[in-house]
Amino acid sequence: MTEKNIKERIDKLRIQINTVAELIGRNPESIKLIAVTKTRTSETIDSALKSGIEFIGENKVQEAEQKLPLLKEKYKEFHFIGHLQSNKIPKLMKLNPAVIHSIDKFSTAEKLNAYLSKKNKKQDILIQVNTSEEQSKFGIKPNETLDFIKKISSLSNLKIKGLMTIGIFSDNEKKIRNCFQILRKIFEKIKAEKLPNVKMRYLSMGMTNDFEIAIQEGANIIRIGTAIFGIRNL
Ligand SMILES: *Cc1c(COP(=O)(O)O)cnc(C)c1O
Repeated sequence: MTEKNIKERIDKLRIQINTVAELIGRNPESIKLIAVTKTRTSETIDSALKSGIEFIGENKVQEAEQKLPLLKEKYKEFHFIGHLQSNKIPKLMKLNPAVIHSIDKFSTAEKLNAYLSKKNKKQDILIQVNTSEEQSKFGIKPNETLDFIKKISSLSNLKIKGLMTIGIFSDNEKKIRNCFQILRKIFEKIKAEKLPNVKMRYLSMGMTNDFEIAIQEGANIIRIGTAIFGIRNL
């Protein structure tokens, strides 16, 4: 994929985002586009950054720590969107993630909190919810999310900022929409609880195949790889 191709794809994607947002009366500016750069080379990522991408997301610590230092272009924020193993916490934190989207285990959250408190730092996190309840997927069960967040909110170096989900892999639009509606409902419910140390601000949902549905259901962070960079070979 050439830089020109990538730019065209990003421009097209922005038009799609704007169109779907405006149709339902949402301000497109309120939707953060994360370019998911997993499996892409640093050169390819640089092309996206030159074409207006500001936020990048990776799902593996090791891959991110190899590629990010090689970038020539600047990015505004790096988001960690993958499953976090607690032994990778120090390496991840060296990359300064703006947001970790994928907290779904209390023991990992505790370890992250301990690391941060030693360094006297805070970290924005999202809680990953398994809205499709597929066995293979990470995330907290929808009906356990409130209790999980109550427990995590006692970890004072973690700033809970919202929820993340991966929609069901399906061509049934109703099933996909249902996942996003579940996340939105939990989001509103937790927001209404006004828990200390919890600020429900971000709904991270929607990828290449389902971002339009996600925007209709209230996503304000979408995570897009394939639509920007093409099909992944890995
Ligand atoms: C890979 C990935 C994406 C992007 O998927 P595409 O279908 O390529 O847009 C989004 N979120 C997470 C957590 C991912 O791992």
